[in-house]
Order: sequence, then C-alpha cells, then structure tokens
Amino acid sequence: GARLDEDLLAGLNEPQREAVTYRGPALLIVAGAGSGKTSVLTRRIASLLRAREAWPSQILAITFTNKAAGEMRERVRGLIGDVAQGMWISTFHSACVRILRREAEQFGFTKNFTIYDSGDSRALIKRLVKEHEADAFGLTPASVQGRISKLKNELADAESFARSANLSDPAERVFAELFADYQRALQRANAFDFDDLIGQTVYLFRAFPHVADVYRRRFRHILVDEYQDTNHAQYALIHELTRPPGDGGTLLDETEPASLTVVGDSDQSIYAFRGADIRNITEFERDYPGAKVVLLEQNYRSTQTILDAANAVIGNNFDRKDKKLWTDVGLGDPIIGFTGYSQHDEAQFVADEVEALRRRGIPYSEMAVFYRTNSQSRALEEIFIRAAVPYKIMGGTKFYDRAEIKDALAYLIAVANPADELSVRRILNRPRRGIGDVTETAIARYAQEEGITFRDALANVSALGVGPKIQQAIAQLDAVLAEATAIMLPASGEVAAPTSVTAGLTVLLNKSGYLDALRRSKDPQDEARVENLDELVAVTREFARGNPEGTVLDFLTEVALVSDADDLDDASGTVSLMTMHTAKGLEYDAVFVTGVEEDLIPHRISAGEPGGPQEERRLFYVALTRARKKLHVSLAMTRAQFGEVSAAMPSRFLQEIPHALIDWRQSPGDVNSRGGMKSRALNGRPSTGSGTGAGGGWSGGSRYGDDLVPLPKRERPAGDLTKFANRIPAKVRDNGDLELAPGDRIRHDDFGEGRVDMVTGEGAKRVAHVRFDTAGPKKLLIKIAPISKL
Ligand code: ATP
Ligand code: MG
Repeated sequence: GARLDEDLLAGLNEPQREAVTYRGPALLIVAGAGSGKTSVLTRRIASLLRAREAWPSQILAITFTNKAAGEMRERVRGLIGDVAQGMWISTFHSACVRILRREAEQFGFTKNFTIYDSGDSRALIKRLVKEHEADAFGLTPASVQGRISKLKNELADAESFARSANLSDPAERVFAELFADYQRALQRANAFDFDDLIGQTVYLFRAFPHVADVYRRRFRHILVDEYQDTNHAQYALIHELTRPPGDGGTLLDETEPASLTVVGDSDQSIYAFRGADIRNITEFERDYPGAKVVLLEQNYRSTQTILDAANAVIGNNFDRKDKKLWTDVGLGDPIIGFTGYSQHDEAQFVADEVEALRRRGIPYSEMAVFYRTNSQSRALEEIFIRAAVPYKIMGGTKFYDRAEIKDALAYLIAVANPADELSVRRILNRPRRGIGDVTETAIARYAQEEGITFRDALANVSALGVGPKIQQAIAQLDAVLAEATAIMLPASGEVAAPTSVTAGLTVLLNKSGYLDALRRSKDPQDEARVENLDELVAVTREFARGNPEGTVLDFLTEVALVSDADDLDDASGTVSLMTMHTAKGLEYDAVFVTGVEEDLIPHRISAGEPGGPQEERRLFYVALTRARKKLHVSLAMTRAQFGEVSAAMPSRFLQEIPHALIDWRQSPGDVNSRGGMKSRALNGRPSTGSGTGAGGGWSGGSRYGDDLVPLPKRERPAGDLTKFANRIPAKVRDNGDLELAPGDRIRHDDFGEGRVDMVTGEGAKRVAHVRFDTAGPKKLLIKIAPISKL
C-alpha cells in the first residue's frame, strides 16, 4: 500500500520513483553514472517484497561482482529485514553454477563438477596444443584460449564451429580439432570452464524445455544491473528465462513470463573485448516490445566539476545519445592535476595527497587509486609501503593463483571431483614421491584400458607394473585421499561436520607430506608458502562460520568464483588500489586516476582497434565518475615498462577535460620547461603551489629522489594532441654526443659534482650512472641531462 511504500520512496526523484513502482513485463532504466541505477534496482526489489507481490524465492537479481551482490543483499535487508534470505542475488556465473549443480545430471555431468578458471583451462589447452603440434600452425595456447572463449560467448560450440569453419585451411582444421578435444576433456573431467557456466546453462534450457520451465515459473522478477556489459550468451540466458513457461499441455496454465528490469549506461560499456554487446541495451525495446523506458539524469554522487569533466570527455564519442549529468550539490573543488617525472614521482604525489586528505578527515577507506594496467600498481605499492600508507589491491590479489594454493585446491578437487584428471595429475608428485612421467603415463594408460578414472587407477597399484617403492608412494597418496573423502563426503545418509572442509584439508596437507616438505626446505620462499597455506586453512574456517552446512563443493565453488572486484577480506581502513575496469559501479570520496598517458589510456593495444579508442574513453569516463568530492588526474613524463624507460605523452583524454576545471600542481608544461611556463599560464587559474612542484624543471631535481631525468618524446602523436603538445616547449637541452666514460668527473646543474661509475645504453638512450658527492647515486640520460664534463 501507499504507506508501506513511503519510506522506500523517500528522497527519490520523480523518474526514480517511477522506476521503483512501475509494474509491467519489461522495464529499461537507462541513465548516466551515479544517477541511482543500482539504488533504484535495490529499492525495486524491496518494494516488490514489501508489497507481497513476490516471494523472495521468486526474485533473481544479477549483479556484476559477488561483492556487488553482497552489498545489494545487505541494502535490501536494511530496507525490509531478514526476509531477503531466499533471494537469488548473484552474478551471472554464480547463478548458473547453482542451476548447473542441480541440473548437471541431465546432460552427462555430475553435480560435483569443478570449475576451471582461466589458468586451469590454459593448462589444459597448453597440453592439447602440444599434443596436436598446433604451434606449427601458429596456434598458441593464449590465442586458442581467447578464440574459444570468444566463440563460447557467442554460443558457438565445437560442432557448430566445425560446420561453419573453412576446414580446407589446415590451421582452421587444427583449431576445430583442438576446440572439440578441449570440450571432450572438460566433459571427461566433469568440469566447466568459466564461459561454459553461462553457455551450458543456455544449452540446458534450450535442450530441456521442461527444465527451463522450472526456472521460468520460479523466477517471476528478473533484474539485471550493468546490463550494458552483458555478452550474447548472458543475453540469451535472460531471454530464455523470460520466455513464457510451457503450458504443460493443459492449456489451463496461464503463467505469464517473468517481468524483466534491466539497468545500464551505454557510456559505461567497457567489456567489448570480452564479448559484451552494447546492442543488448540499444535493442532492448525491439526485443521486449512495449517495454517501459525510464531515464535518470540527476547525479547524486559527484560534484558538478567532476560531472562537467566527465560529460566533456564522453561527449567526444560520436556513436552515443547525448545525455548530460547534472547535480544540485554545487561545483565543489577543482580537479587536481599532477605530472611526475616518473611513475615513482607520480606515486609519491598520490601518497602525499592521500595523507593530506586523511588529515582533513577523509578516511583511507574512502580513497581509491585507479590505473589502466595491473603492472602500474607496482610503483604505487613501493611508495605506499615506504610512506606507510595502508593499502589493498582489489582484484590483483593473486592468492588463488599461487602454486601452493593451487596444489592445496587440487587436493580438495581430487576428493570432491575425482574425475578431474588435471587435479589428480597435479598432486601426483607434489610433494616429490618419486613418481615421474613414466609412471604417470602408465597410470593413464591403465585407466584408459580399464575404462576407469585416473583417480581410481591409483587404488590399483599392483596392476600398474611399477616398482615396489613407487607402488608404496601411490598407495599412500590413495590412502590420504580416501581418508579425506571419508571426512568431507561421508556416506549417504550422514552429514558432514561443519568443520569438515577444514579437517579434510588439514589431513590432506599433513598426511600427504606436503607441509613437511615445505617445512624441511631451506628455501626461504617455502616459509611464506607455509604461511599461505595456513591462510587457506583460515579461509576454510571462515567459510564454515558463514556456511554451517557448506560442503567442500560449496567451498570450491566460492573460491572459483572469486572475481576481480571481490576480495577475501574487506578493505576497511585501507586505500583501495584497482584497475579502472574493477572500479565499475563503486564510489569513493577521493579518487586518483593515474597514468593518464597515451598508450596507457587509451591503451596501446586497443587504440589501434576499431572502436578501441571509444571503449577506452568510456573506461576513462567510468574512472572519473567514481569520485564523490575529490578527483585527481596524474601522469608521469617517463615510464618504465618491460624493463625499458620511455617518454610518455599526456593522454588525449586529458586534453578533453576543460582546462579551467583542472588545478595543476605540476603541469606537463612545468615538467618540460626549465623554469619556463607555469601552470598559471596554462589554465588561467593560479596554481595553489602545494610545494610538490620541483621548481627546477625537467632536470631531474624532483624532491622525490627520483633518479632518472625524462626523455622528451621526439615524435608527437598528431591530431587531438597538437594543442596540448604546443604547450610543451620544444626547447630542450641537447648535449649531442657528449662522451662520458667511467671515472669522468661531471657537474650537474642541480646535483653538483660527481663521478661517473658506468655508462649503459646506446645513442640517445645512453645513461650515465653517476655517484654525486652530495646528492648520491643517480642515473642520467646523457643526451639531455643538464651536465657538463669537468
Ligand atoms: P553507476 O553508473 O556508477 O553504477 P548508479 O547509477 O548505479 O551508478 P548508484 O550507485 O545507485 O548509481 O547511486 C550513486 C549514489 O547516489 C549512491 O551513493 C546513492 O546512495 C546516491 N543516490 C541515488 N539516488 C539518490 C537520491 N534520490 N537521493 C540521494 N542520494 C541518492
Ligand atoms: Mg550502479
């Protein structure tokens, strides 16, 4: 009723209210960043439940990350209390796992299937590429994996591919064979890869309409956040679920199709490279005729200055409907810009600003630093550690990619899904038991001859024809697996103890000798490995607390679905570091967008691809619109990547932000001109002069002790950048072919006198390693450093 809804609608603007209260078969909410799309979705769920229009179990809400799902669940709970229990709020992948666990037996899998992450499937593909000698056709594991993934996102399988491919081309034929073999191997291992989770669910629904009907009747309300980033397979899944359920032949059944609500922003579509199709949103009205469309334009997240910058940037994409975000919170502070000499200099600026903001009352947890590529986090981490700024890398936690963690999980999988040969083979000789390739092959052959699994073959050592020592080793492994199986998967009728995963894992790690081997090792790395395994055991305990009835399968599922933005523990009390992709949907009081340089954003690889620069611009737009109050953009004049230092150019996107919006602490011009142009001249606004400017210009006099002077870029990209480049004075010191040799004494304009230790590099990139009498060791680019020989 009306009164019930009052608090749910409190504070919402008119279109938001409409989006919460509209009832009908299909609703599309299109809106820019921070306009309340996710909030509206949450309130819509609460409103359906509150009005008793739906049971919790009739709701399926899809979010982009598990973390977002958890937050949405919490918010619904906050709005209406604990009834939120039975709802499915999850990612596409988790929802499909739940469906497949129930239904896998319909099509040749069992419910204890394992999920191959991209590392697992890469390992499998690598083996197949080798077996097929496919590298002779230019097929690499990476390219094969990428192509299979792309095909699966388009719902193509090995057979349909083989039908449509040009098989007279030998490379195509080999690829088709690889694809088919890969699929067979997955099936044999009772495993799905990530793309299969979605694709096979669609297949299941299409092949078994009675199964699909169960879910069509169950889910009466389907809501999808970030719809602009769905790929074709995900689109098809939603389409299957929103078909009218079959009438069971009675004609009496008039169950309506589920109602569908999707929210999205085509300006934030950033996953085209993973097959996301922006058309899913632009063609929604065609696919769901009569759909209601609601537009939200008021932004509640950011200041007008931040929105003006974001609007201006995204306005350069030509294939979009123009929409302008606005807010009534006012202009707010200017965006702060900074150009460092190097990425360390830039990182130091970030660390300094973070501390300054914290002193002004913004907690660490309300600050985030974004970058385009994972490798950029290293310089930030180094400086943050030195400056004692607590931070946490979101998504980059490669905890589950560590070899020892993978080993431990392989032990668990060997118990939970013995058909998964990859895992059983992985642990066969870890720790070292003297089981080599010959024995492994013998086991595989025996399994094949007997038509049993690799795991079961282990139980039959005497038939393998191997020596007594190896027999004993295999028998011991078999016994450990059996003991853990009894703990984690008790005979039917019995229930596993809540602590079974912890207990089972402990048995596996101890009795297999795995932990002992690490403890005995003299390799200091192995000590860290023991700690990591302790951490994994702690994760199982944590899991048991949250899921008292959780089985080893549930645990493995959770681990497999940890995605980029999800994390083991929360980031409270720490600054969050993440890629721009991971930042989607999040918001922070203060945001640092770093590495705003050509080749990074837009990224070198996508800049040359059709649609690439536009997608990169959307990514940059996503990054800017995460900020509530304080936005920083920064770049470095030189960047070390892949062991090479090269000059960087300001990103064309930086140029697209109206200059008056940015307050340059140190502008690209400052860095390049020796005492020349100041930021005042650049944007018509006096610089606040925070003291971070090095003053000495490009000579390497950064107060951050950064020790490599920048190399000015010779060829500048044409087009957009000319205006920007014009502001970078061409006058640069040129020492020509100044000869320097170890032992030479030199004088540097800022560092004084020193002695050359070593000269490396060639031509314009020759670097002098100089030990200055007072300034200490520095590396200088000989061609441009302000130095003279004494
Ligand atoms: P994105 O495109 O980044 O995913 P979004 O459109 O999903 O953003 P939300 O995250 O739902 O936006 O909302 C952005 C912020 O605005 C949140 O902090 C939310 O609480 C707040 N907000 C949304 N609607 C209102 C409102 N009517 N009044 C006050 N605050 C609001
Ligand atoms: Mg959102």
